[in-house]
Amino acid sequence: MSDSLISTYKRLPVTFVRGEGVWLWDTNGKQYLDALSGIAVCSLGHTNARVADAICTQSRQLLHTSNLYGISKQDQLGDALCRVANMDKVFFSNSGAEANEAAIKLARLHGHSKGIDLPTIIVTENSFHGRTLATLTATGNKNAQIGFEPLLQGFVRVPFNDIAAIEKVAAENKNIVAVLVEPIQGEGGIQIPASDYLDNIRALCDQHHWLMMLDEIQTGICRTGKWFAYQHSNSTPDVITSAKALGNGVPIGACLARGKAAEVLQPGTHGSTFGGNPLACAAGLAVIQEMEANDLAANAMIKGERLVQGLKTSLQGCDMLNEIRSQGLMIGIELKQPCTELVQQALEMGLLLNVTAGNVIRLLPPLTIKTAEIEQIVDTIAALVKQITK
Ligand SMILES: *Cc1c(COP(=O)(O)O)cnc(C)c1O
Repeated sequence: MSDSLISTYKRLPVTFVRGEGVWLWDTNGKQYLDALSGIAVCSLGHTNARVADAICTQSRQLLHTSNLYGISKQDQLGDALCRVANMDKVFFSNSGAEANEAAIKLARLHGHSKGIDLPTIIVTENSFHGRTLATLTATGNKNAQIGFEPLLQGFVRVPFNDIAAIEKVAAENKNIVAVLVEPIQGEGGIQIPASDYLDNIRALCDQHHWLMMLDEIQTGICRTGKWFAYQHSNSTPDVITSAKALGNGVPIGACLARGKAAEVLQPGTHGSTFGGNPLACAAGLAVIQEMEANDLAANAMIKGERLVQGLKTSLQGCDMLNEIRSQGLMIGIELKQPCTELVQQALEMGLLLNVTAGNVIRLLPPLTIKTAEIEQIVDTIAALVKQITK
């Protein structure tokens, strides 16, 4: 690999040249089963025909004008995304971090309009919200932050899945304007909170007039078996951020809002040159249509259960296994010891997976995955985990 790239990534020794569905081929023609989807991006699998057609057609029609003008593909995607997310309005960005930046700015503006001069957002430990300075500050990972101080003001941190900790902050800090959490922590190790966690956050937000903001960048777009993971709860947030699977590989992000929160950002307060451009929105629209046409939310639920059942059966009695956590096709297999070496070993066996939080094997396969492909993932992981020695 070229020395000309700034080494922000420790890359695995493989380069892919072609993809189709859950399959990838490298420069030597070796075939791999992709159980990571570029970290929850290619949820429709690689080179999905509807997305490819949409990009090709759009590229011959119009690639970019400006947000100074109407953009019909942005209008259409906005309508479709608000419908599936149950939100009123949307701002389009080019990435997840930028979607969260929009949410953070929205929360601060909301605070200032209430006379709060140091608007403060509650965030959680072990969270991940992105790499820009504001989202890095919101991120609950000291290793990611180190060396980039001074970080921003206006954030307080509480443990994840701890409502009492949020209540305590509410009693002590009069500057709170919003809570920002992931419904399931992805980078944090597929951490799933209590089933009433979001409902309890909703109640606190209502009581204190805070905005409930959910980072659904990894959990959204049918990954957990619903359009957005919050739809497993009884509550609706005020703000949702989306990205990753929204473009199936074309960079696009979104900050969605509802009710009063949807009226906070006004002309001149925020913007983006590329955000919501015709090409990205054509891809996003094709993604939503393809998900609906094939009911991939339901498939995520069914195939997720199948995969977890298979893993539980074949890893039964394995003393290396701590716990399997999952919702839909967002799956974490927690082992009793660090296991980052499994990534390379799986690669050699033709399987792409990821290890996060040190000891959690993370699986985020395409939602289009077939049963035979599920079996192959199960067999490979079982073989890998069983050969680990203490
Ligand atoms: C990936 C991710 C982000 C950051 O998205 P980028 O597109 O890399 O900026 C933010 N939040 C969560 C939960 C993510 O998984």
